Amino acid sequence: MLPVVSIVGRPNVGKSTLFNRLIGTRKAIVHDEYGVTRDRHYGESFWNGRDFTVIDTGGYLPDEMNVMVVGIREQVHIALEESDVILFVVDVKDGINTLDKAVANLLRQQDKPVLLVSNKADNEERRMNSTEFYELGIEDLFPVSSINGTGTGNLLDRVVELLPEEEEPEEENDIPKLAFIGRPNVGKSSLFNALLNDERAIVTDIAGTTRDSINSNLEYDDKEYLLVDTAGLRKRTKVKENIEFYSTIRTDRAIRECDIAILIVDAMQGFDAQDKRVIREAEKFNKGLVIVLNKWDLVPEKDTNTVREFEDYIYTSVPQLYYVPIVTISALNKTRIHRVLDVADEVIAERRKEISTPDFNDFLEQMLGEKPLPMKRGQQLKITYATQVKSNPPVFKFFMNSPHELPPNYRKYIENKIRERFGFLGVPITMVFRQK
Ligand code: GDP
Ligand code: GDP
Repeated sequence: MLPVVSIVGRPNVGKSTLFNRLIGTRKAIVHDEYGVTRDRHYGESFWNGRDFTVIDTGGYLPDEMNVMVVGIREQVHIALEESDVILFVVDVKDGINTLDKAVANLLRQQDKPVLLVSNKADNEERRMNSTEFYELGIEDLFPVSSINGTGTGNLLDRVVELLPEEEEPEEENDIPKLAFIGRPNVGKSSLFNALLNDERAIVTDIAGTTRDSINSNLEYDDKEYLLVDTAGLRKRTKVKENIEFYSTIRTDRAIRECDIAILIVDAMQGFDAQDKRVIREAEKFNKGLVIVLNKWDLVPEKDTNTVREFEDYIYTSVPQLYYVPIVTISALNKTRIHRVLDVADEVIAERRKEISTPDFNDFLEQMLGEKPLPMKRGQQLKITYATQVKSNPPVFKFFMNSPHELPPNYRKYIENKIRERFGFLGVPITMVFRQK
């Protein structure tokens, strides 16, 4: 788990600008194949040899003043719960206002390290003016310009000093981590609780995690899992906008830390843009994937084809997910809930699968025979050799002439053929093509 730095402050002080600067070149390019664009609140940064996560808490805030004060208070609490260092951003162009004072009061009442960032200090005069913020009672003050980058190096030096000691790399631990993700009210907690409360389940809470942590160890049929529920925390928030913020933060974090992402969808509501975003995110991080269609009890007049129709609907709306297994359940009636674990087991095994190099090259030869590589710039493309360089998650490396000329549809063809031959149910496959 990487240390976490949160950015807090009232709207328009430049939190998201600072966030983008701290994420820098590591920022994922916002290019979404599913046509979903969305603000990012969560990213990774690297400075002086340390990796850490940055959270921008500015995403959702109601406009109305009364609600805003409550909203900010909750966001500060989220930041405190989630992070190791807090960056409290103020705007030197505007000076101190009441919301800044409210945030400062909350931050002074706790022990986490807080750095006061006087943003928009684009020139010397504004850097000088930043001293007025000492009035907020927070001593570590950094004038920065998030727009032109001035001062951010000093700020980052201090951030890195304040990060907790680097953890020893964890011992390889084979217990798979399953994250239950999905929109609010799809039934994440219901499924989570149904599995944990099952009489055959042996459950141990994980000690030493934060007070709101909702990870549990589940032993079932002699198999162990670590279950991560992303719903628990947000149940404490009252402001509507923060509910979404909570779930986004928890979801992004759970996705990065899990082995298998289990996307829960309400069968009556179907798949939406947010579901596509999270599953795409999980795919990008090469997590194992399972889709659960919950509330199956509510689907009227089911017959033998109904499951098939729902599967078709999902695979048609997001064709890229054709390799992801779908399970229909009712968390409420506890129907087929263990099927979720069985399918997760399958995906775990597939993700760990190793194909021997001779087998893979036999496959390669046959595949190339069925559909020869095209000519490019008067030259016959050739793949001479390929091998699985790692598993869990799987990565395949192909050696060829002119890797840049490989057409995307041929790439897709290779992936389809790998799946046809070797399976890899629910597992994103990484393929790298190198110049031979
Ligand atoms: P947020 O609401 O706190 O996330 O603020 P934004 O990052 O959206 O920034 C609000 C406005 O301040 C935008 O118009 C930014 O371009 C501007 N801004 C952010 N950082 C700086 C800065 O360092 N200098 C100046 N001059 N403007 C900035
Ligand atoms: P979460 O926000 O994703 O954790 O969703 P919850 O587990 O809190 O469930 C939201 C609502 O859906 C609750 O009222 C549940 O009782 C209901 N619910 C959950 N699973 C099912 C199900 O399988 N069938 C039906 N009919 N209702 C369900």
